[in-house]
Amino acid sequence: EPPRPGGSGFVAPLRRAFARLDREWRARQDRAARAVAARDAVLHALPDPLLLLDGSHTVAFANRSAEAAFGPGLAGRPLAAAVRAPALLAAAGRVAGEAVSARFETGAEAGEERFYVGHFQPIGGAEAEAEAEARVALTLRDVTEHERSERLRAEFVANASHEIRTPLTAIVGAIETLQGPARDDAATRATFLAMMQDHAARIGRLVERLLSLSRIERSEAQAADGEVALRPVVERAVEALAWRARERDARVVVRHPETLPPALGDAEEISLAVQNLIDNAVKYGAAGAVVTVETEADDDTVAIAVSDEGPGIAAEHIPRLTERFYRVDRARSNRVGGAGLGLAIVKHIVRRCRGALDIESAPGEGSRFSIRLRRADRPAPESGKAKS
Ligand code: ADP
Repeated sequence: EPPRPGGSGFVAPLRRAFARLDREWRARQDRAARAVAARDAVLHALPDPLLLLDGSHTVAFANRSAEAAFGPGLAGRPLAAAVRAPALLAAAGRVAGEAVSARFETGAEAGEERFYVGHFQPIGGAEAEAEAEARVALTLRDVTEHERSERLRAEFVANASHEIRTPLTAIVGAIETLQGPARDDAATRATFLAMMQDHAARIGRLVERLLSLSRIERSEAQAADGEVALRPVVERAVEALAWRARERDARVVVRHPETLPPALGDAEEISLAVQNLIDNAVKYGAAGAVVTVETEADDDTVAIAVSDEGPGIAAEHIPRLTERFYRVDRARSNRVGGAGLGLAIVKHIVRRCRGALDIESAPGEGSRFSIRLRRADRPAPESGKAKS
């Protein structure tokens, strides 16, 4: 029935038309809302913080990683209030149609320093209504770990160079003395040559240890999972250190249980780790003291423990002992020929075997270092996480 103006037949089709328009409009709104929700879900799923900024650099949207990193309620705040980093704001000022990156740090004042690279990417104009506000996408990549390892590397190179320079300077000094004032003095020559030999040996030991450390570190990603019988490993280590024990007049006592299950790891490396522990126990223990090397097993692990009757170690030093070049008493360690690398080597070996190093010590009570390894005769645990 054709609509007649003014007639009653006009209203019904109009109502239908309005209803249809309304449905379509709602459907379109729904689609837009779903599109925004889908976009937000994707942005929230990103592991890196992401902010969408409007033309005046107010945060229009912040994904979950951004709120986790910089606190909740970022949307609606100016960038300057959302992320307090002058270097980032300076870069924001340079964004004009071109992408801009900036490296910056935050949290230093709270003692939680983190490093980021912020990347401002201008994004297309008003493609969709809901995105009309977003002019710039700011992604933030957390480079804190990278920054830390860079610092460690630089510190390591500085330490290693210093360790080598000290004996080298002594050797150069001795050579100059022998070439000059002491040229014809046989007694001085003998003394200086012996001293040079000591210093050269010290450099040699240092280089040897640095090479071991780098070799073990490089292979660390690959778990050492050979089946290792610990009795012969311990015996080999004790034998290799017999000269050291004699030198210090120490007695090394070895104790094994009746049966000892095999461990998971690398026999050569475990022997090297045990040698380092025995070496320390003999070096830092009192002359003529007893060093005990014991093995034991429980349901999942096998352990080798090296105990001494030495001076012990104060609690504040214990967590740092395995750091490279860390020494409690530098002068004492230098006298006994240590460079602070022994326990770093032990730590990395133990890590490669996916085991654990425990240190128990107290001043005046001696020390006990134990290497705990997984048993080779037990199935690997479901998610065999590496311990250090
Ligand atoms: P170093 O080559 O100096 O012996 P390590 O890495 O083996 O280096 O040990 C680091 C430091 O830990 C040593 O300098 C020493 O101060 C301390 N330390 C290690 N083992 C013992 C121990 N058995 N008794 C007392 N102190 C120890």
